[in-house]
Amino acid sequence: MTSAPQLHTGVCVRVPAKVNLELRVGPPRPDGFHSLATVYQAVSLFDTIEVSADRDWGIEVVGRTAAGVPADESNLALRAAHALADAAGIDRPVRIRVTKEIPVAGGMAGGSADAAGALLACHRLWGLDLSPAELAAIAAGLGSDIPFLLAGGTALGGGRGERVVPTATRGTYHWVFALSDEGLSTPAVYAECDRLRGAAPVPQPEPSADLLAALSFGNAEAVADAMGNDLQEAALSMQPALAGVLEAGLSFGALAGIVSGSGPTLAFLCRDAESAIDLAVSLTASGAAADVRKAHGPAAVGPVEVATCR
Ligand code: ATP
Repeated sequence: MTSAPQLHTGVCVRVPAKVNLELRVGPPRPDGFHSLATVYQAVSLFDTIEVSADRDWGIEVVGRTAAGVPADESNLALRAAHALADAAGIDRPVRIRVTKEIPVAGGMAGGSADAAGALLACHRLWGLDLSPAELAAIAAGLGSDIPFLLAGGTALGGGRGERVVPTATRGTYHWVFALSDEGLSTPAVYAECDRLRGAAPVPQPEPSADLLAALSFGNAEAVADAMGNDLQEAALSMQPALAGVLEAGLSFGALAGIVSGSGPTLAFLCRDAESAIDLAVSLTASGAAADVRKAHGPAAVGPVEVATCR
């Protein structure tokens, strides 16, 4: 006998931000996206997404980084909920409350995290039984980073980033993120990357075997040596002041520093938790960075008790 799906009045999940340990960008494709070979790692900066059944569709955005995030139909979390309802052929309005901690327009996929959270929470609220592949296909239709954020962890991303394969990693990686006041538009950074490359032929991107080996051994120094981001030059060209912050982070003892995704957030990998505390203090006390966050990875997506959601 199959049991009836359990219905919930409210569901809450927390979804991590991501950093790209490696981001190799290939040539632009006919659909306008670039082919990518990337290694994602989810890190412990979380947005929380709470969905509850309501008479009308609606969204509210609160939290430390909520300023400037649209609380209307353009919000990726609400678009994701609509996309799932359409795919499942149902019309059950929800009210979504997004509590934002992930930097906005910072290259850490905050909007994508909220979309992934809304998909997972609505899937549960509505008692659906889509397979992980079906959910990933809806996620991919909404944005390239969203399939990865359905689970988090560490994964290889191919295609335009939406084809995700989890990778074996050992250990915990300690990060310090230096935030910028001004965001960068992801399409604008890709356009700048193309402009800087000019007419030179661009090879198909490949992930580095050294990075995958370093992750499987849990060797933070070797991971640091193998990290890289093909969008870094473009992000630095659009925000030249970032170069000084990168230099400062390295001089204060980071194993490596890179632009996170399309930037402008800078990601510093540290030897251990204590070095991360030291680096965060040095970056702020010296005035090199106005705002920093410490985090560790790999982080996972997880449910939160609704009672403790706020
Ligand atoms: P990525 O790393 O995926 O390129 P990002 O981290 O640079 O993205 P986001 O924080 O996802 O950038 O925001 C990009 C833009 O998307 C914002 O400027 C905002 O206007 C819009 N947006 C729509 N929905 C959301 C959301 N739920 N959270 C944040 N931004 C959103």
